[in-house]
Amino acid sequence: MAEAVHCFIGLGSNLDNPTDQVIQALKELQDLPDSTLLSCSSLYRSDPMGPQDQPDYINAVAMLDTLLSPVALLDQLQALEQIHQRKRLQHWGPRTLDLDLLLYGNQLISCERLTVPHPGLTERNFVLWPLAEIAPDLKFPDGSLIQTYLDQQPLGTLQRLP
Ligand code: AMP
Repeated sequence: MAEAVHCFIGLGSNLDNPTDQVIQALKELQDLPDSTLLSCSSLYRSDPMGPQDQPDYINAVAMLDTLLSPVALLDQLQALEQIHQRKRLQHWGPRTLDLDLLLYGNQLISCERLTVPHPGLTERNFVLWPLAEIAPDLKFPDGSLIQTYLDQQPLGTLQRLP
């Protein structure tokens, strides 16, 4: 029988009540087929990336075990984005729900639809801090430690919400 793979999903929203969007998406991740939601981070408020004339983001990271292939998991995540009636008018513009596959076990994936580890992973404090909250000892596929990147991407204006 196939073995479940440990994955991390990044969630972000800055439209249509972002806190509710992220909480609802976390519930939906619980219902993914052939997958088990293991834990999720607190919610964080972050400044928008790119155009500044858009609302703040709410972010979180979830950890799950899955038997789905990386692309099958991406299909599920994109279906959830559609359920949230994602509207995307501009690059890095506002969105109701963004789901990124941050890590899929220790695999390095580079195909037309998928780059894993997610390219922004080590450069975005709003991904690194929630990730470190639920996996403080995480090692990336190249053997580097998450704690190293936290030093490079400090909390700054990122706020962990109560
Ligand atoms: P964005 O919504 O701006 O994050 O980009 C979505 C696009 O990125 C989709 O076309 C995906 O196929 C592609 N993509 C590449 N790598 C990833 C990843 N690790 N997680 C989510 N989407 C990805």
